[in-house]
Amino acid sequence: ALTAGIVGLPNVGKSTLFNAITQAGAESANYPFCTIDPNVGIVDVPDDRLQKLTELVKPKKTVPTHFEFTDIAGIVKGASKGEGLGNKFLSHIRQVDAICHVVRCFADENITHVSGKVDPIADIETINLELILADLESVDKRLERVAKLAKQKDKEAVYEHEVLVKLKEALENELPARTVEVTEEQAKFVKGMHLLTSKPVLYVANVSEDDIADPSDNEYVQKVREFAGNEGAEVIVVCAKIESEIVELDADEKAMFLEELGIEESGLDQLIRAAYSLLGLATYFTAGEQEVRAWTFRLGMKAPQCAGIIHTDFERGFIRAETVSYEDLLDAKSMGAAREAGKVRLEGKEYLVKDGDVIHFRFNV
Ligand code: GDP
Repeated sequence: ALTAGIVGLPNVGKSTLFNAITQAGAESANYPFCTIDPNVGIVDVPDDRLQKLTELVKPKKTVPTHFEFTDIAGIVKGASKGEGLGNKFLSHIRQVDAICHVVRCFADENITHVSGKVDPIADIETINLELILADLESVDKRLERVAKLAKQKDKEAVYEHEVLVKLKEALENELPARTVEVTEEQAKFVKGMHLLTSKPVLYVANVSEDDIADPSDNEYVQKVREFAGNEGAEVIVVCAKIESEIVELDADEKAMFLEELGIEESGLDQLIRAAYSLLGLATYFTAGEQEVRAWTFRLGMKAPQCAGIIHTDFERGFIRAETVSYEDLLDAKSMGAAREAGKVRLEGKEYLVKDGDVIHFRFNV
């Protein structure tokens, strides 16, 4: 499964946030085959549509889909040179598919800041620099190998050399690899390099309890937004401390608490959904009398592959995907009515499944 790593300097609130994630934990009964690694937190993906479908279909059971966060502890300045947990930290980042970078945006004199003062941009740059230096090392190593072959006019090597030089130039200017513009074909090669700064990123601004209702007044948050904006990255504002309280509440209490705080959706729920889409994940539904259920797929997957997420037999024996969009089904109020209104399509092997599709797979056994 794809996973998003939680990264940040010490004392920014990572553990507090990760504890909230593990406590919010998805009901493990639904995932009996998942091995539980202490650094992995599995959460339900919040989705209002699932509730609406449940009201419509009135199934015996409703099952949300889930998502994995990985806690990556131990970055300090100098990690790329092997300081602190250095190399271990970097190898853990290498294994995740996206990065949720937590930055401290709360001033609290009782909590030491590693560099002496709260400065979220300097914090971001500290971590980014370690990742950039590690990538530069990988690129240099590869360049060394490829350069000789390129001189001998090896076609592949000449091509790789060109891309590597571009990457090196960016990294030397302290720009992450994801900012380098490449052709579709070059992108495949870059992907194969597994660079740390190629991974998609979002920033998590951890603010104090007082700022959560209206974080736009918080100057640290403003700075993070500006920085992220330049990279085209998203910013999620949370108060890790409050999130750790929210996860203790049941659904009704949670709704009341959020209203008191003056926020519509908990920071954690926002974070889950943002990380999910950062990874290119989306949700389709199955809706029967027994069970209404959300399933995660990668955008770009075709109908048979999506069927295979439920069961490999579904993929092997795939015939058709009886499909209706969530909106159309809700408008029609029942599957029968949606069918009569001509909203239910019979899609074949080449159909690209869309977020919100409600699907009934037909297959041969
Ligand atoms: P980590 O080193 O990044 O994992 O940081 P921790 O989660 O251990 O948090 C460091 C300290 O900051 C702890 O004393 C937390 O209680 C405190 N802290 C974390 N989040 C918040 C927050 O949202 N508001 C306030 N006031 N303190 C926080």
